[in-house]
Amino acid sequence: MGLLNGKVALVTGGSRGIGEAIVLKFAAQGADVAFTYLSSAEKANAVLEKAKAYGVNAIALKSDAADYNQAEALVNTVIEKMGKIDILVNNAGITKDTLMLRMSEEQWDQVIEVNLKSVFNLTKHALKPMMKQRSGSIINMSSVVGVFGNAGQANYAASKAGIIGFSKSIAKEVGSRNIRCNVIAPGFIETDMTHALTEDQKKAYTDNIPLKRLGSGEDIADTCVYLGSDLSAYVTGQVLSVCGGLNT
Ligand code: NAP
Repeated sequence: MGLLNGKVALVTGGSRGIGEAIVLKFAAQGADVAFTYLSSAEKANAVLEKAKAYGVNAIALKSDAADYNQAEALVNTVIEKMGKIDILVNNAGITKDTLMLRMSEEQWDQVIEVNLKSVFNLTKHALKPMMKQRSGSIINMSSVVGVFGNAGQANYAASKAGIIGFSKSIAKEVGSRNIRCNVIAPGFIETDMTHALTEDQKKAYTDNIPLKRLGSGEDIADTCVYLGSDLSAYVTGQVLSVCGGLNT
């Protein structure tokens, strides 16, 4: 008996990294899973096969989370093919790091649109079926950088801090309908996004982490299972730092 048996989840950016780990953990816990990707069709297909091997229904859909109309079409497709959405994980995200003096308007706009506007797009459309069914769990992927700030990541930090204010507001708006909205703030997680760090940089980060290691996608996915399941039935509007104690 899985913790997510009978539930349907929609995960954005499920083709790689943290999103892939979430899709697979959800499938392992018995959820039917729809997930999106932007350009990695081959990787998405590989994740799809692994998810189906758990005996659940799974679909991979190419959809740009930053595009309002594509988000609406995506939600409609998931409802049509899977009947409902119990869990929405807004995970898709990008970085365009540079110091403020060098940051272009395009680098600012792209990060805000993919990381923050996407959360508005998907939440806006997924809320309608959740309101009808009078239940739902929305999980938004922020970052410890959205809490602390980080030199060279003003665009990314702003997008991730925006997610926190948005999520707390949604939690207050729809709590009476039994819809929960929480935030995960991962620390340094080993994925393509952090791949560019040198060994020296990784060591410097690790030295500052109480648990003395970088995190894995599975560390974040386990927290998503908790927030998506009924184990967290009385938890909403919260930011859970999953960072090895970095945010302490
Ligand atoms: P990643 O390995 O770079 O994977 C990003 C995922 O997002 C991919 O599946 C990608 O699809 C998808 N994606 C990108 N732009 C998209 C768009 N416009 N529409 C739909 N999907 C899109 O990233 P990650 O490290 O797993 O990060 C996942 C989330 O956790 C992000 O929100 C990130 O900000 C957050 N986070 C990560 C860390 C970390 O240390 N890694 C720390 C804190 C927070 P394609 O494969 O098709 O490109």
